Amino acid sequence: MPAGLVSHTSVGGLTPGGGMGWLTRKFGLSIDNLVSVEVVTADGQVRRAAADEHPDLFWAIRGGGSFGVVTCFEFGLHEVEPVVQFGLFRWNLGQGPQVMRLARDTTSALPPDLNAVIAAVNAPSAPFVPPQHHLEPVYGLLLTGFVPAPEHAELVTRIRESLPPLFDLVTPMPCVELQKLLDEPNAWGMHGYDKGAYLEDLSDPVLDIITGHVRRKTSPMSVLLLYRLDRAYSGIGDEQTAFSGRRAPRYAAFIVGLTADADPLPAERRWARDLCEALRPYAIDDGNGYINGTSDYSTDGCAEATAAPSTSGSPGSRPSTTQATCSTSTRHPASFTANRRHHERPGSARSRGRPPPQAAGHRPGQVARVVPQPPGLPGGRWSS
Ligand SMILES: Cc1cc2nc3c(=O)[nH]c(=O)nc-3n(C[C@H](O)[C@H](O)[C@H](O)COP(=O)(O)OP(=O)(O)OC[C@H]3O[C@@H](n4cnc5c(N)ncnc54)[C@H](O)[C@@H]3O)c2cc1C
Repeated sequence: MPAGLVSHTSVGGLTPGGGMGWLTRKFGLSIDNLVSVEVVTADGQVRRAAADEHPDLFWAIRGGGSFGVVTCFEFGLHEVEPVVQFGLFRWNLGQGPQVMRLARDTTSALPPDLNAVIAAVNAPSAPFVPPQHHLEPVYGLLLTGFVPAPEHAELVTRIRESLPPLFDLVTPMPCVELQKLLDEPNAWGMHGYDKGAYLEDLSDPVLDIITGHVRRKTSPMSVLLLYRLDRAYSGIGDEQTAFSGRRAPRYAAFIVGLTADADPLPAERRWARDLCEALRPYAIDDGNGYINGTSDYSTDGCAEATAAPSTSGSPGSRPSTTQATCSTSTRHPASFTANRRHHERPGSARSRGRPPPQAAGHRPGQVARVVPQPPGLPGGRWSS
């Protein structure tokens, strides 16, 4: 089932907001693969919600945030090859406009078995990075192929020839390693502030804004990510779930200000807000983007809070989930926000009679029941 790019975001926090990652173009959002949930609602009742049981609740939990404490998720499963083709390409900051144009051309006509994430990051001090580029701000493209190697290689060659990168890493990789690839730079205990927007296209004015603002981030940990959303993502109707975005093809921008200590965070928060504000005239839907990728909404008058103290390293050091929604350290507005910005509930005149949403291609009879664990424990307990 599709999940996020980082393996230590919990199923309970990720799923009610939507859940997008490597497999979203192929199999949709996490919520598009949800078969049922067991949920404790505010009145203390344990309820099962599914297409045929408490359908309103089931609709709301798929994208609208936490409408109760989910104690079990049941997902439909897909089959993927155990080994995927991975490609990571990096270019220097001065090549921003060319990189973004290449990324735009590459991502707008991508087969569903390939996934691309466009990134503005700092290069890690990793063995595959030439030492002179360690920690340098760069643009990147992450190209994941759930396809036979030759199909991936063809695109890799095209990218290398179109705009030779500073360095790249192209390799087959176990699928479970791909799920953990970005865990380390996103370790628990950091101070973060997120803004987001949906962009219909990477038009030239949008590229100008992005390349102008990326230069201004000061923390090497802060990033801009653009996820391409189309294909299976767009195969679900706008009203079929409470997801915080329409299903027309788009890019989801994640603007993440991230620092190791609390003191530099305000500068990164400003950077994230400024970039988001500059993109606003080009943003689609209501301009606020993905509910799981937004620390606060621009118009809500949030007080600027400081991050919780952290003692980096262990899961327990992650900022408390009970902080106020506007806290700079909580990257999870989902539980506070009943997001009904774009959607009608099932049973309304427009949506009544529609079949329940379903991502295509579940393996018949194959489901996984996932029991979320309390904070501090790894992952969730799976059974299938
Ligand atoms: C490093 C990082 C990478 C990310 N990458 C992606 C990505 O690739 N794709 C994507 O879609 N999103 C991504 N996100 C956003 C992520 O989906 C949200 O921040 C999510 O809410 C995190 O969940 P969590 O459980 O890890 O956090 P937590 O702070 O523990 O939980 C988030 C919220 O969910 C609530 N919650 C937790 N468990 C349950 C439950 N069982 N029932 C009801 N409510 C519950 C909590 O009360 C809390 O308010 C990322 C976030 C981070 C921090």
